[in-house]
Amino acid sequence: MAISYTPMLEQYREVKSRHSNEILFFRLGDFYEMFFEDAETASRELEITLTSREGGQNNRVPMCGVPYHAADNYIAKLINKGYKVAICEQIEDPKQAKGIVRRDVVKIITPGTILAEASLPDKANQYLALLYEEEEELCLTACDISTGECIWAVFSGSSRTNTVCDQLYRLLPAELVLVGKIDGLAAINGFLGQRVPGCATTALAIPEITFSADLLEQHFSEDLPVTQTAKAAVNYLLYYLHHTLKTNLSHVNKLVKIDTHDHMVLDASTLRNLEITRNMRDGGRKDTLLAVLDFTKTAMGGRLLKKWLEAPLLHPGHILRRQEAIAELMNKGAVREAVRELLEEVYDFERILTRIEVGSASARDLAALKTSLAVLPDIKAKIQDCQSDMLTGISNDIKTHVDVTNMIQTAIVDNPPFSVREGGIIRTGYDLELDELRSIARDSKQWIQDLELREKEVTGIKSLKVGYNKVFGYYIEVTHANTGAVPPNYIRKQTLVNAERYITPELKDFETKVLGAQEKITNIEYQLFTVIREYIKERISDIQQTARQIAQLDVLLSLNEAAMRYNYTRPGLNQSRDLLIKDGRHPVVERLLAGEMFVPNDTELNHHNSEIMIITGPNMAGKSTYMRQVALLVIMTQIGSFIPVREASICPVDRIFTRVGASDDLATGQSTFMVEMTETAQIIKFATANSLIILDEIGRGTSTFDGMSIARAVVEYIKDKVRAKTLFATHYHELIELAEYSKVIKNYSVAVKERGNDVVFLRRIIPGGADRSYGIHVAHLAGLPKRIIERAQQILQDLEQSKNDTATGAVTPSREAAASTSANAAISLFSSGIADELLAIDIMTLTPLEALNTLYRLQNKA
Ligand code: ADP
Repeated sequence: MAISYTPMLEQYREVKSRHSNEILFFRLGDFYEMFFEDAETASRELEITLTSREGGQNNRVPMCGVPYHAADNYIAKLINKGYKVAICEQIEDPKQAKGIVRRDVVKIITPGTILAEASLPDKANQYLALLYEEEEELCLTACDISTGECIWAVFSGSSRTNTVCDQLYRLLPAELVLVGKIDGLAAINGFLGQRVPGCATTALAIPEITFSADLLEQHFSEDLPVTQTAKAAVNYLLYYLHHTLKTNLSHVNKLVKIDTHDHMVLDASTLRNLEITRNMRDGGRKDTLLAVLDFTKTAMGGRLLKKWLEAPLLHPGHILRRQEAIAELMNKGAVREAVRELLEEVYDFERILTRIEVGSASARDLAALKTSLAVLPDIKAKIQDCQSDMLTGISNDIKTHVDVTNMIQTAIVDNPPFSVREGGIIRTGYDLELDELRSIARDSKQWIQDLELREKEVTGIKSLKVGYNKVFGYYIEVTHANTGAVPPNYIRKQTLVNAERYITPELKDFETKVLGAQEKITNIEYQLFTVIREYIKERISDIQQTARQIAQLDVLLSLNEAAMRYNYTRPGLNQSRDLLIKDGRHPVVERLLAGEMFVPNDTELNHHNSEIMIITGPNMAGKSTYMRQVALLVIMTQIGSFIPVREASICPVDRIFTRVGASDDLATGQSTFMVEMTETAQIIKFATANSLIILDEIGRGTSTFDGMSIARAVVEYIKDKVRAKTLFATHYHELIELAEYSKVIKNYSVAVKERGNDVVFLRRIIPGGADRSYGIHVAHLAGLPKRIIERAQQILQDLEQSKNDTATGAVTPSREAAASTSANAAISLFSSGIADELLAIDIMTLTPLEALNTLYRLQNKA
C-alpha cells in the first residue's frame, strides 16, 4: 500500500516530481528544508546535520535545512559541486490561504545562472553557453546573465567542432547547454574535460522546450541573426534563461555576433601557449599578458580588457582609434589622474543593474549604484575637452543619470542594512506616512503625554488622563465630576465606578498606527524600495550603455598607465605585410626578471627578403622567449596598446598560430608527437599569407632523422604555399642550409660568449645560424660533476672527428650510415656493459633526475 504523507509532504512531493534534476529548497518559515534523497545529498555535500521528520502514518522521512538568510552560501557550494538548486517559496499570503499555503518553484539556480555576488568572478564574465546544430550548421550562443550580454556565432564545414572549441576556451563557460543532437559531441566533451575544467553540461531534448512567443524579438531590437539555426539557438538560450530564472530579464537586451572577420583569431592552443589571460601553470592570471596590462579600476573595465585581449582588432582604422585615445591621455596628466581617481568610486554597477532586474538588489546595491553614478558628471566634464575620436565619443555617450542618483540620494539612507525586509533603509523626510509611523513607534509615549496635556488645556479638566487596556485600547479617562466639561467629539466607551472612559477619532487613528507600526514600517519601506527599484529598472538599458562607456574609458586608462609605467612606445601600422621591431622586449618576462636586465631584440619580417626566421641556439638561450615576444607585441599592437619597443611598424595579422614546446597532452593519452603533428596540420591548413606562425622545435618527438625531415618539409611548404610570416626555433642545425636555397628564409641565432670553458648567453638574437649547441656547457651550468663534463667533451671531440673522417671518405655513405658509424665510434670508447645500458635507455621518457642517476651509475662502472 502506498504511504500517505502529511499534506505538506504531499505538496513537497508534487513540486519535486517536476524538479527531479535539481535539489529542491523547500521554504518552511525561516528555513529552506530538503527531504528524502535531496536531504541525504545536501547534508553530505554541505556537511550539515541530517535529521528526520514525521511524514505521516508514523513514518519518518530524512530532512535537513539551512536558514534562508544564509542560503546563498549553501547554494553556491552546491552549484560549485555541479548540482542545480530549485528554490520553492510560498506563493500566496498565508493569511489568505485556505488549508496549506500554496508553494512553487520561483527560480532554478544553475552554474551558468547563479547571480550571488560571491560566486561571480570579478574581472571575468560568467557565461552560460548553448550549442545547437541544424543541417551541419553549428551555432554557439552564450549569455552572461550577470551583465545581460548575449553573443552568437554560426560555424559550418568540417572544422566547425574545432572552431567551437576555440570559442569555448575563450568564453570559459560555467555551464554549457546542449540542445538536441550534435555531431562532434564526443570531441567537444573531450575538449571541455581537458581545457575548460568545471564547465557543467546540461542536455536539453528539443521536445522538452515549449515556448510560444518569439523570445528573440522580445529581447533584442537590433542585430538579429538571419540564419534559421542561429535564431533557433538564441531562442533556446532565452527559453532556458526564462525557465530557470523565471523573471522577464529585460536587461538581456544586447545581442552581438562573434565576428571572426573583424578580429584576429586566437585559437585555444595559442591563447594558452602565449599565456594571454591565463597562465599554463594553473590557469590563473598571474604572469599573463593580462596581468601586466591590467590597471583597470572597475570590474567592468577588467572584463573588457580581457575581451580586448582575446579578440584583437584587424582593421588599422579601429586600432588607430584606440591608439589615439591612449596617446591623448599621455599628454593630459591632470585629466588622467582625475579620472582614475573618480573611477575608484565606481562599483560593478553593470551587475547591480542585473540584480535590480531580477529583483535581488539590496538597498546596499542601490547605494553603491548611487555612489557610482554620482561621479559621472565629473568624469564627463573631465574628458569633454578631449580631441581624439574615441574619447569624444565616450564623453558624449556617458549619460549622467542624475534623476536616478537624486532619487536614491533622497530616498535611501547612507549606509543601509543588507536586508530589504527589516526596515531602516528609507531616509527620513522621504515619505510622510513613514515618518509619522516612525515617530509614532519611537515617540508613542511622548505623543500620549502631549495629547494628555493638550486635552487638559482644551477641556480644562485637570484630572484627565490617557490610558490603555487590552480590551478597549487607548482611552481618555475623565472622573464623573468632570464629565460636564467633556467636548462633543468624545465618544463614551466604558463606565467605571468613578470615571468615564472616552475615545476620539484622533486617538483611534493613533492607536491603529501604533499597533503594528513596526510591521507597517517595514512594509512601507519595502514598498517604497520596490517602487525605486522599478523606477531604475525602466532605465536599465540606458545605464547599461553608460556602463559600457565607463568600461572603455577604464581600459584606455589602464593601457595608458601600463605604457607610462613600463616605458612603452606607440607602434606604427603598415599595410605592406611588414613586421619591423627595434629593441623589442617581452612584456611579461621583463617584469619577472628581478634585478637582471631584459635584453631587447630586433625583428624584421617582410615578404621581400625575410619571411621566415630560422632560429638556432642552445637550450635556455632565449629562443622561445623571443618568439613569444614577437607574437605578444603583435597582439598588444592590435588591441591598440602601446608596446615595449624602441620603435616598431606592424602590419596587423589575421591569425597567430603557435606550436610551442612539449605540451602536457601526454596526460590525455595522445603521444606528444601525435599532438604536435595534429597541431602542425591545423596550422598548415588554416594559415594565410597574413598570418603569423610560431613553431618551436617541431619534430622533436620522433627520431632525429624523421624529425628533421618533417621540420624541413614543413618550412619548405610554408615558404612555397602559405607565405605566412614564420618564426621557427630548432635544434636541427641542418636546417640552417635552407637559407642557401631561398632568399626569404633567414638564419638567426642567440649570441653566446665563450670565456675559456665557460659560456655566457647574451640573449641577443643575431643574424647567422649557430654552429654549436653548447649542450655540454648547459650540463656544466646545471652542475654536473667536472669528471662527466670532461669526459663528455672528449667523447664529443671523438664524434666530431669521426664524422669528419666519414664525410671526407672516398665513398660517401648515407647519412644514416654516417650517424651509426659515429655512434659506433662512440660506443667503442665504453666498456660494452655501459654501452648496453646506454642503448637501452629511452631518452624520450627519461626525467632529468633519472638521467642524473643513470649518469652517476655509469660513471661508477667506468
Ligand atoms: P630557449 O627557448 O632557448 O630554451 P627561453 O626562451 O626559455 O630559452 O629562455 C630561458 C630564460 O632566459 C628565460 O626564462 C628568461 O628568464 C631568460 N631570457 C630569455 N630571453 C631573455 C632576454 N632577452 N633578456 C633577459 N633574459 C632572457
